[in-house]
Amino acid sequence: MKSPADFTPLGEYECADADDIARALAKARAAQRKWAEVPVAERAKAMLKVRDQILKAQDEIVAVVIRETGKCLAEALGMEVYSTLDSMSYYSRRAEKVMKPRRVPLHGPMALMKKVTLVPRPLGVIGVITPWNGPFVLSMGYTVQALLAGNAVLLKGSEVTPASTLMVEKVFRDGGFPDGLLQVVTGDGLTGAALVESGVDKISFTGSTATGRKIGEMCGRLLIPCALELGGTDAMIVCDDADVDHAAAGALMGSCMNAGQVCIGTQRILATPGIYDALTERVAAQCRTLRQGAAFGAEEDVGPIIMDRQLTIVERHVEDAIAKGARLLAGGRRNPNLPGLYFEPTVLADCTADMLVMREETFGPVVAIRKVADEEEALAVANDSPNGLAGNVWSRNERKAFDLACRMETGSVSVNDMALTYGLQEAPFGGRKASGIGRGNGADGLLNYCHMMPVVANRFGNAKPSGAYPYTAKHVDGLRKAIKFFWGSALGRYFQ
Ligand code: NAD
Repeated sequence: MKSPADFTPLGEYECADADDIARALAKARAAQRKWAEVPVAERAKAMLKVRDQILKAQDEIVAVVIRETGKCLAEALGMEVYSTLDSMSYYSRRAEKVMKPRRVPLHGPMALMKKVTLVPRPLGVIGVITPWNGPFVLSMGYTVQALLAGNAVLLKGSEVTPASTLMVEKVFRDGGFPDGLLQVVTGDGLTGAALVESGVDKISFTGSTATGRKIGEMCGRLLIPCALELGGTDAMIVCDDADVDHAAAGALMGSCMNAGQVCIGTQRILATPGIYDALTERVAAQCRTLRQGAAFGAEEDVGPIIMDRQLTIVERHVEDAIAKGARLLAGGRRNPNLPGLYFEPTVLADCTADMLVMREETFGPVVAIRKVADEEEALAVANDSPNGLAGNVWSRNERKAFDLACRMETGSVSVNDMALTYGLQEAPFGGRKASGIGRGNGADGLLNYCHMMPVVANRFGNAKPSGAYPYTAKHVDGLRKAIKFFWGSALGRYFQ
């Protein structure tokens, strides 16, 4: 392990194997049985102590994340710490209400005799597998929701950022959370596969589409549920009547934040002719002012790419675009003044459909802009993608922008802003098409980690069970009459 910012060695970590995971699972199962019986309000209190521990340990968390990823201080603090505290508070404060058993009204004749209560029951032990680009926040997010819902969690973060994932275990331990409920298993893809196969009750996976497919296949074979949060190639539609300054700032931020290594980052910018030139000029001018460096203070904007392999992809995408006729307006190469894996913030104009930057996830600080004939073409191009994670539309006409945004075939959309959904706890998060299956977060995020169990009971005490033996001609006649009444008469239909 080496820092991508300056290649400082970061140490070595063991890869857990199937036996290690089996031991962790046994411990998690024992802890979970007790945890499931703890009132939700008590679980929330325990979680808020962990939140307070994160507040205390924020500098340590930021330091570990920066050491492993090289990300800028503002991003480490905003993306990893602020978002985590916000989501922990949000779910802890609402857990009791969300998890309350709720009566569902019945219709028809059964409404006279029976009542149904939906009781959220925990699933058991959840395997949470996460990537490196938000190594602390993405490991915390669904872990917190699964734990509050009464489950235990076995967490496997990326092999690229093991220390950041181990920080998750540390804050739970230091925050006094019950032992065994949250355990981290370090390791690579083989460890991840062993976790999926280990006998856990659900997998929550965040990572690439290629790995997500493999995990989906494994879960299908094992018949365990999985939520897959995968990659994207998000489109940004900029209409002639957009505020060009705001759109330029949004384009730059959407494409370059976290050095472009954001699943809901902007990949394909589609601008209509009336704004295209002004937008590209403004984005290029602003892009040239972005700062890179490994001082990790408040004066850096764009950090390094996480590893060589990823940097090679960014270089290949940019070279491919230039070879196919894109105009390079800023950046376009490794930063020659820095020793680490820094790629200069880059602007490519006149991009076309055949370029890799317009088709595949680049995951680097590259703003790729394409001119489209009009808004309808922008929408058609945006939707002509195997992915659908997020997207955004920019126009001063909010009604029009809202309508265009709704027609995007993607998981979530923003109007005159970008990449917000994951940070808004109330908004269900997740992709369509090859960007994922299932929804995380959202007001009911906790229920994603529960089985909603309908419990049916008599409305009036010790009634006879419905449909008791033996069947008789009188019974059959009664049924015929009921059918005739309920579906053959106006009064009966009224009850449906
Ligand atoms: P990745 O798919 O390579 O790895 C993700 C995790 O899966 C890692 O922990 C890895 O060890 C593990 N893994 C790898 N092979 C496995 C296997 N066969 N079985 C089980 N686990 C396995 O992704 P990455 O490079 O770490 O992350 C970048 C990708 O994640 C990008 O595509 C990005 O768009 C995506 N991402 C998506 C979201 C989202 O919420 N949709 C959020 C962040 C990142």
